[in-house]
Amino acid sequence: MKPIIPFVVFAIFLNINSIAQVNTANSTTKKPQQINKKMTTSANPYFNKTSKEKIKISEQEWEKTLSPALFEIARKKGTERAYTGKYDNFFDRGFYYCAACGNKLFESDSKFASGCGWPSFFETYTESSVQYITDKTHGMIRTEVVCGRCNAHLGHVFDDGPKPTGKRFCMNSISLVFEKK
Ligand code: FE
Repeated sequence: MKPIIPFVVFAIFLNINSIAQVNTANSTTKKPQQINKKMTTSANPYFNKTSKEKIKISEQEWEKTLSPALFEIARKKGTERAYTGKYDNFFDRGFYYCAACGNKLFESDSKFASGCGWPSFFETYTESSVQYITDKTHGMIRTEVVCGRCNAHLGHVFDDGPKPTGKRFCMNSISLVFEKK
């Protein structure tokens, strides 16, 4: 009986290996189509600029819905590199919505040139547009700002902003979608 055991183990290994190869081949062929679909907010069923309903879905569902870059910032609390975001040096008149769910977050009237490398606002559109979480990562105590509707990570708020609030909402461009008034 003994010589059979190594053979069985080897056969199982071969089988697992061939399944893994099939899966890899499938995911490689599907990838470009998935990325293109996820780059548009119209392909996101949770994106709605009028709904106030809170969104509570799994992280797996968010990963399927958002582009990889937005998922990294919005759901994994990443930060885009300073001075690289599309709204850093952008001052058109309009509104900024959450890129993950469409919740209205800021008005251009509250945007200012902070020079910090990220789009900055001195106040949110309404008090309930965002929520606040104490962030103790990276050896600092900061106030994280998340979307009031879907909890997407947007950035942080600091107390060195201009009047009338003295606040600086330091946001990731990728977490925002701008629309002209
Ligand atoms: Fe949101």
